[in-house]
Amino acid sequence: MPDPNGFLRYERQLPARRPVAVRITDWREVYPPAGAELIREQATRCMDCGIPFCHDGCPLGNRIPDWNDLVRTGNWDAAVESLHATNNFPEFTGRLCPAPCEAACVLGLGGQQPVTIKQVEVEIADAAVARGGLNPHPVPASTGRSVAVVGSGPAGLAAAQQLARAGHAVTVYERDDAIGGLLRYGIPDFKLEKQHIDRRMAQLAAEGVQFRTGVNIGVDVTAEELRGRHDAVLLACGALQGRDTPETPGRPLRGVHQAMTHLVAANRVVAAAGDGRPAPAVLPDGTPIDAAGRHVVIIGGGDTAADCLGVAHRQGAAGVHQLDLYPEPPHGRDAERDPWPTWPWVLRNYPAHEEGGDRVFAVAVQEFVDDGTGQVKGVRIAEVTVERRDGRRVVTALPGSERELPADLVLLAIGFEGTEEQPLLAQFGVARNARGAVDARPDWQTDADGVFVAGDMHRGASLIVWAIAEGRAAAAAIHSYLGGTGSLPAPVDPARQPLAAR
Ligand SMILES: Cc1cc2nc3c(=O)[nH]c(=O)nc-3n(C[C@H](O)[C@H](O)[C@H](O)COP(=O)(O)OP(=O)(O)OC[C@H]3O[C@@H](n4cnc5c(N)ncnc54)[C@H](O)[C@@H]3O)c2cc1C
Ligand code: SF4
Repeated sequence: MPDPNGFLRYERQLPARRPVAVRITDWREVYPPAGAELIREQATRCMDCGIPFCHDGCPLGNRIPDWNDLVRTGNWDAAVESLHATNNFPEFTGRLCPAPCEAACVLGLGGQQPVTIKQVEVEIADAAVARGGLNPHPVPASTGRSVAVVGSGPAGLAAAQQLARAGHAVTVYERDDAIGGLLRYGIPDFKLEKQHIDRRMAQLAAEGVQFRTGVNIGVDVTAEELRGRHDAVLLACGALQGRDTPETPGRPLRGVHQAMTHLVAANRVVAAAGDGRPAPAVLPDGTPIDAAGRHVVIIGGGDTAADCLGVAHRQGAAGVHQLDLYPEPPHGRDAERDPWPTWPWVLRNYPAHEEGGDRVFAVAVQEFVDDGTGQVKGVRIAEVTVERRDGRRVVTALPGSERELPADLVLLAIGFEGTEEQPLLAQFGVARNARGAVDARPDWQTDADGVFVAGDMHRGASLIVWAIAEGRAAAAAIHSYLGGTGSLPAPVDPARQPLAAR
């Protein structure tokens, strides 16, 4: 029986973030561990609602009130078992998820303070590691069937683990030199240190999953060869086609880059150094892409932009502006527009924002300004209004509002246009739809029989929690396609959408 008064006795409280002055000198995670006592108090705030709306917010179907109560009563082993029953990688979601479950928590009604669900989640996961690591669950018998997983992000890894535990022989193919997808070289270490991925890889390897890095399917191995080797294929190649702005004057100037180019270069430096200390970042051809001493302009307002901001500060930028096309969102839920328990449009402040930089809202870039040598020296912006007309976005610049910001390094973090156009698609006979994604039938198969799709490649750029949910569901469909006995958990179907009012 949960404590019905817990939320009256304890306020919502998160662990203090490491001081800004300290954390921008290294790449370590921003949050230190919360400590068992704080987490027990926070878990005690959960009311174990008769209808736990937090469940509706989470596509994984996490058993949130169950593990909150297990933490409250000190049953940490049972808590991690309950957590792993629905989520292969709670140490990733606990650190990185924006927590739609918290937006849907009953305690958040009327602008009140929801349970710190994801902090409880990450503490359960980390405590399990501290108590003895992640035990592998190898299965004794093999079904004799084999599956290729293309792409090693959270969708591919979740599917691989589910299928290996069901007795199938699983090989994960990754074109990068390391496993993890965006978790590895997209998301910086100050949000997710990479030992968490390495630990999971070790667990999956002990469960029989084979990893092949540096293999670009469609180039190094053809689709036909892959289909010859395996009984089923899962495509989990992500949505890595960065949106660009080719029509903006000055776009070809040196110093104007896609955000991912900057993030990958920075993360590779951290991975190579291994000691967590900052070092200059360069592109594969040796071109510097480091923010040290530079005026940086980041265009975009989401996760990717905030990650560029944190990286720029750690590299020692002289100053950073982050530009957003839209006006500043409200600081709290607008109940008319986004009633509880839906995901609200509110101003999202990431830890990177308290490290410095200026956010400028409701502006659009008119020109990247040349210094006369082909290198960017500034960004000319104008204040704008944004309207929807006939389903199209119409951006109107306000006359006389133009001004120039200094910029030696400009990073485009304006979203993704679906999965990349690459040889693998035509070879498998699957096409990108109007959103740049790959459609799935209700059983997660693409237009090609025996070829399944999951994660961002299917959904478009989304979240880790959705990638894991889709990976689990696609694994269940593959298991059934291969004639496996029983059924695996399938938390979502391909048509499932986040909880929304409209
Ligand atoms: C900078 C950034 C920050 C983010 N921060 C967050 C966050 O804080 N919280 C959150 O929930 N989400 C975040 N996201 C989104 C999240 O990372 C993605 O939704 C998630 O990683 C998608 O997982 P996936 O497995 O579908 O694909 P990915 O993680 O993109 O992995 C796809 C993999 O497929 C590989 N691949 C592609 N083609 C081939 C091929 N032909 N052969 C072999 N391998 C191939 C790629 O190299 C890549 O490793 C962020 C995204 C970005 C870009
Ligand atoms: S909605 Fe909030 S209070 Fe209710 S069960 Fe879920 S986490 Fe606990």
